[in-house]
Amino acid sequence: MTKVVLATRNQHKVVELRHILADVVEELGLEIVGASEFEGAPDVVEDEVTFEGNARLKAVALARHTGLPALADDSGLAVDVLGGAPGIFSARWAGRHGDDLANLQLLLDQLADVKDEHRQAGFVCAAVLALPDGTLRSAEGHFRGTLAREPRGANGFGYDPLLVVEGDTRTAAELSPEEKNAISHRGNAFRAMVPHLRELLG
Ligand code: IMP
Repeated sequence: MTKVVLATRNQHKVVELRHILADVVEELGLEIVGASEFEGAPDVVEDEVTFEGNARLKAVALARHTGLPALADDSGLAVDVLGGAPGIFSARWAGRHGDDLANLQLLLDQLADVKDEHRQAGFVCAAVLALPDGTLRSAEGHFRGTLAREPRGANGFGYDPLLVVEGDTRTAAELSPEEKNAISHRGNAFRAMVPHLRELLG
């Protein structure tokens, strides 16, 4: 059994990733574990300016610390008419880190005069696999839609209540967790990572 450590202390994300990667986990005999299993796992300063750069910082630090293959991701919302913002600043768009409601409200206010046909946006996720020897692989996933004029739905987190899913009438917060995993940026990024897992851990 090869252990692969995920750069998060959030057990929900570990469970989510086990679901997304279930087939390849079984095929390669992997076990996905969270960073909290390891004492003193580093909290890195995410000072790169791309999703991929910040995911790489987290994966490399964790692979070094644990001596195991490490996976990390970094994500955010990119709004077309804002040139890709909030982007890497998604979690702190309204100033304070992680204030989901304030972030969402500020974005709605900024876009108040933007017509429906110009409200395209998408979540972006970069996933990085780092081996202890320094080998790196990365993959990206997208989840596109248009921005609603008011929040809808109680599932998910962050900007989910604003993104009306492409080809659907529901927001991301109106999807079940399984429905969201099947089409989300994180799901797509980690599914795009599968060939790299086969190559390096098979
Ligand atoms: P993280 O990389 O998962 O920490 O996400 C950074 C920020 O991007 C979050 O705080 C959210 O504001 C936003 N974000 C990333 N993924 C999602 C998502 O699936 N739904 C809603 N917001 C997201």
